[in-house]
Amino acid sequence: MIILDSGRVIDPANGIDGTRTVLIDGDHIREVREQAATPAEKLVHQVLDCRGRWVLPGLVDLHVHLREPGEEGKETIATGARAAAAGGVTTVVAMPNTKPVCDSAAVARFVAARGREAGFARVIPAGAITRGSLGEQLADMAELKEAGCVCVTDDGKPVMSAGVMRRALEYARDLELPVMVHAEDLTLSAGGAMHEGPAATRLGLAGVPAAAEVAMVQRDILLAEMTGARLHVAHVSAAGSARALREAKVRGVRVTAEATPHHFTLTDAAVAGVAAGLAAAQPAGEPYDTHAKMSPPLRAEADRQAVISGLNDGTIDAIATDHAPHGPLDKQVEFAHAQNGVIGLETSLALTLALVRAGGLPLARAVERLTVGPARCFKMPYGTLGAGAPADVIVLDAEREWKVDPQRFYSRSRNSPFAGWTLKGKVSKTFVAGKLVHEEGK
Ligand SMILES: [Zn+2]
Repeated sequence: MIILDSGRVIDPANGIDGTRTVLIDGDHIREVREQAATPAEKLVHQVLDCRGRWVLPGLVDLHVHLREPGEEGKETIATGARAAAAGGVTTVVAMPNTKPVCDSAAVARFVAARGREAGFARVIPAGAITRGSLGEQLADMAELKEAGCVCVTDDGKPVMSAGVMRRALEYARDLELPVMVHAEDLTLSAGGAMHEGPAATRLGLAGVPAAAEVAMVQRDILLAEMTGARLHVAHVSAAGSARALREAKVRGVRVTAEATPHHFTLTDAAVAGVAAGLAAAQPAGEPYDTHAKMSPPLRAEADRQAVISGLNDGTIDAIATDHAPHGPLDKQVEFAHAQNGVIGLETSLALTLALVRAGGLPLARAVERLTVGPARCFKMPYGTLGAGAPADVIVLDAEREWKVDPQRFYSRSRNSPFAGWTLKGKVSKTFVAGKLVHEEGK
């Protein structure tokens, strides 16, 4: 057995926040108890002194782009999973917009097998909604589910046809598969490079209005209500989306949602190189910094606040990174031509703790949104330290300050808008299924 002795255990799934000792027996949790490790246990078991450290369930990230197969220069399943382990993320749901798209059992099985070989995190495939994610013919969702996919999504793109979306929801409902949507009305967002607002006007960049997201969130809520399917809204960025989701949940629509650290940390001011929001105490970036370009875009302060309120009241169930690796050729170009996306696996926990310290979110709720909250969205048995649960556990030095240096990331890509930031909280050990997969400084 491995015994994590006398750390501050924060396990929202079981209502625990206090000094506890965690017993790991093989690949599962045997017990979380108040009594410290005994001298007898110290003789026969591996006992790790966790006094002064926090012990949490491993993080569950519902939205990660691992780029393999097809773009291994940006990331591989192994490098992405290694980055996840360093960030305390023990379960990643791999987005299907690879080359080829994960719209068949063959690709889904390949992704899962590569993840198992790498061994750093649980890599769980998401399947496509439509073949090739082209938005036209439905993928074989039964086959995808059979191959281990926990949801279907055409992420990166919306399903523009409401008729196709309706049929997708009906099909997925019969399989009890959640449908994750990238909510974007392309007729409203076309040509836009950042959030439509005063900052875009000043910078002379075409905007993407918040309505491009809100309109699709509302359409998909209507269709989920009509069909009875499970809808999951990815990367909520706009106040109107949070409002629509809140109302839908009250009505009993089967909808869950996630938000990213970059959307609750930054606003469109970051594109102008102005430090605002949680960035106020951090070094300002450069204007037109393409590391502040993503889809959906960084929005206004009122939107950022609405995302935080949504995380607080449960309108938004999960914090997910939308980890999207890109190389220099994609980012060191004019803003309008740069690719969308930032990496996030190695900064999500520390950025969430920064939000907690700024008073945005109570600690237990923040941990819930990183662990059991996302696990419940897709009915996965992770994110809990309950007896018998899979032993995915992290040990955290919550007071440790560190400077974000993307050159030192385990990810193969460097496109982080948080380079140079000083954050607090670093994972010292990560266990997946009872196996040590990351140790800080080793
Ligand atoms: Zn997306």
